[in-house]
Amino acid sequence: MSGIYIHIPFCKKACHYCDFHFSTSLKYADEMVESLCKEIKLKKDRIKDQVGSIYLGGGTPSILSEAGLQKIFDAINQTFSVSAGAEITIETNPDDLTAQKLKELKQLPVNRFSVGIQSFFNEDLIWMNRAHNALEAEDCIKRSQDAGFENLTLDLIYGYPLLTDAKWLSNIEKAIDLQVPHISAYALTVEPRTALAHAIKSKKQVPVSDNQSAAQFVILMEKLQAAGFEHYEISNFAKPGCYAIHNTNYWKGIDYIGIGPSAHGFDGYNRYMNPANNALYTETLTGNKLPEIVEELSLNDRFNEYVMTSLRTMWGVNLEKIKTDFGKDFLEETLYNLKGFEDKDWLIKKEGILTLSKEGKLFADHIASELFIIGND
Ligand code: SF4
Repeated sequence: MSGIYIHIPFCKKACHYCDFHFSTSLKYADEMVESLCKEIKLKKDRIKDQVGSIYLGGGTPSILSEAGLQKIFDAINQTFSVSAGAEITIETNPDDLTAQKLKELKQLPVNRFSVGIQSFFNEDLIWMNRAHNALEAEDCIKRSQDAGFENLTLDLIYGYPLLTDAKWLSNIEKAIDLQVPHISAYALTVEPRTALAHAIKSKKQVPVSDNQSAAQFVILMEKLQAAGFEHYEISNFAKPGCYAIHNTNYWKGIDYIGIGPSAHGFDGYNRYMNPANNALYTETLTGNKLPEIVEELSLNDRFNEYVMTSLRTMWGVNLEKIKTDFGKDFLEETLYNLKGFEDKDWLIKKEGILTLSKEGKLFADHIASELFIIGND
C-alpha cells in the first residue's frame, strides 16, 4: 500500500535550530489549502493501489483550522481509496493541543499524533525558541489521551549545550511515564542558515559537542530498552508492534507521494521534489501544473539509498536483496566493504542480514557512507 506525505508550511514561531520549510505568517493559509487539494487531485494517477498511510508534517499541521484540514482529507478521499486501517498521523505542537482543538481533531480521520515536545524544561524550550512551555508539554499528552488519542509519538532532542545528562535522563523518564507507545529522539544538528548556526558563528552560543551527543544517545538506548521499547530505527523507539507505519514504509522503499511545498515523493525509481517556496508552489498550481522536479535515480543512487535507510533499522540490509535487485557485483563489493566493520564488531552479519551493533549505531552514517558504491553506473 502507498503513502501520502503532506507538508503544511506554517509555524507560529521559528525554532532556532530548524531548517524545514515554513512561514510564520498564516496570511495565505486558505490559498495554500486550495493548492494542496489541487495537487492531490492532479496526482490521482500516481497511486494505483490503496493508501495505507497519510502523514501530515511540516511546519506545524495542527496550526490549520478544522475546516482547512477537513478540505485536505476530502480531497484525498475523493481522489484515492484509503484503506480502512490506514495510519493517519498529524504532527502537532503542545500549545495547539487545547481541549477545543482535540474536539476538532476528533471530527477528522486522524488516528495518530506526533507531538513536538523536544524537552520538558522551560529554559531549554526558551533556548530553542519553541512556542510552548514545559507545563503545556506534559499536559497536552494527558489531555490527548483523555480525549481518546492513545496512538501518540513524542519527539525529543538531545545533544544541545543546556542539556546535562541528568536533565536528559529526566526528559526520557518523563516521556516513559506518560505511557506513550512511540518515542523519536534526534541529536541536535546545526544546520547552515539557521539562527543557531549564526549564533555559534558569532560566538554567542557554544558549539554542539559530538561527544555529548554520543553519550546521550547511549543513555537514550539504555533507558528506553529497559522500559520495553524496541530500538527499531536509529532515531525511533516503539513498544512491540507500535512501529510508525508511514515511516517504516519509507525506510523499506515503498512508494509515497509528496504534497505541498518542499515535499518529496518516491515511486520506487525516481524522486519527485516540490520547490520550497510557497508563492511559486501556489502560482504553478493555479496554472494547473505540478510544481515538481524529477530526480532520476541511478542504480547506484538506489543502492546507496537502500543501504543508508535499511542499515538504520532493526530489519537491516538484506544481502540476498542486494543480489536480486542490484546484481552480483554490488553484492561482492558490499561484502568486501563491510569486512572492516565486522572485524570491529560494528556490523553484525546473521542469516544474510546486516545490522548495526550497539556500538555501530553510534557511527551509522559513517558506516553507511563507507558501504556506498560510487561509479558502477
Ligand atoms: S515547529 Fe517544527 S517545523 Fe516549525 S520551526 Fe519549530 S521545529 Fe521547525
